[in-house]
Amino acid sequence: MSNLMKEMNFTNSKRLYKKAKGLLPGGVNSPVRAFKAVGGDPFFVSHAKGSKIYDVDGNSYIDYVLSWGPLILGHAHPSVVKAVKEAAEKGTSYGAPHPFEIEIAEMVKNAYPSIEKLRMVNSGTEATMSALRVARAFTGRDRIIKFEGCYHGHADGLLVRAGSGATTFGVPDSPGVPKNYARNTITLPFNDLKAVRDVVKRHYRDIACIILEPVVGNMGCVLPKKGFLQGLRKICDRYGILLIFDEVMTGFRVSYGGAQQYYGVMPDLTCLGKVIGGGLPVGAYGGRADVMEMVAPEGPVYQAGTLSGNPLAMAAGVATLRVLSRKGVFEKILKKAEMLEEGLRDAARRARAKVKFYRAGTMFCTYFTDREVYDYTTAKRADTEKFARFFRGMLRRGIYIAPSQFEAGFLSLAHTDRDIEKTIRAAHDTLKEI
Ligand SMILES: *Cc1c(COP(=O)(O)O)cnc(C)c1O
Repeated sequence: MSNLMKEMNFTNSKRLYKKAKGLLPGGVNSPVRAFKAVGGDPFFVSHAKGSKIYDVDGNSYIDYVLSWGPLILGHAHPSVVKAVKEAAEKGTSYGAPHPFEIEIAEMVKNAYPSIEKLRMVNSGTEATMSALRVARAFTGRDRIIKFEGCYHGHADGLLVRAGSGATTFGVPDSPGVPKNYARNTITLPFNDLKAVRDVVKRHYRDIACIILEPVVGNMGCVLPKKGFLQGLRKICDRYGILLIFDEVMTGFRVSYGGAQQYYGVMPDLTCLGKVIGGGLPVGAYGGRADVMEMVAPEGPVYQAGTLSGNPLAMAAGVATLRVLSRKGVFEKILKKAEMLEEGLRDAARRARAKVKFYRAGTMFCTYFTDREVYDYTTAKRADTEKFARFFRGMLRRGIYIAPSQFEAGFLSLAHTDRDIEKTIRAAHDTLKEI
């Protein structure tokens, strides 16, 4: 205990953060990295290996953030490192077709029967943005339905969340998003089929698609209620609306075949990212052939990318999926996730902590509330100050979880039983202390 609790030194991180703040907005290149939701300054990373991440002051942490999801094999997995090195030797970008693009497309298609054709892009944001364009072109309609608390990247029309779950037309979440643009986004409460039905009945002639995270990892880990995804499928079929699953996070995580395999619901289009890039910048969108044939150069919908299908990124993705698809590998990660779930539930019971724990495959979230969480409103009931104390207590004990109550945690193949035991002990001690 005393050993675990020794005060950490953050001198180098603090110095770098000060410098970074003069150069980058908020000192970071993506907002969630700044620890704003939990207070304190972020640590700067020197390197990472397996389940561990090391900062520039020599502190090490068991990592449940895993670059916000992609690293399902852990940091610097030997197969991935080797693949990237070999690819780099052969040239880092061609701007011309190459065989790895076919290999990853086949691997994705085999795992996701709903995807008949796909296009590789460079980020999840690009994937969802492009999927919307195709859906609008295919249906000839402009409006989209999304759900409160679902994050689909930072494209203009998706940075919208109607206040207090109102079924009104969208108001932008961020300055800089044109009001006219946001007006085409209808935002509804997750898990509320009735709200969807009501809006669709009135506006279906204008609605191109319904886009959602089938398990919402961007407000923690919110599971779809029984029948919700199936209900959406039915509504879409009835009114000629395209159903888009944004599986950028859940793809190859909730199960190898994503949430769509786990829940047995086939979307028309799927967005992928994170895991399929093996830690390099990648996104993809794909689905029904008749819809994807709208995309240039086969069809009229323009979408392009200088670095799309980049050989390094494709090599990292292929290497990741090759390991992940080996017999027993995904099951092994699932076992670790189950072990962590059981341990954390038990630790919370022993510490008499009021928490709700949710897990979908290899992603999870602990909410500081004693009421069920099933949408954005109920997620927001969680005690974020208590979470912040939990985060800091865990960090001091060498455990790195996402610095926000509304983010998911992730397991990897690299997490050992000892890592998980240490995490459970740390959680118990922290929960008692806060
Ligand atoms: C991370 C994420 C995105 C955005 O992906 P980027 O690569 O960060 O642009 C989109 N949708 C979901 C569900 C995500 O989790």
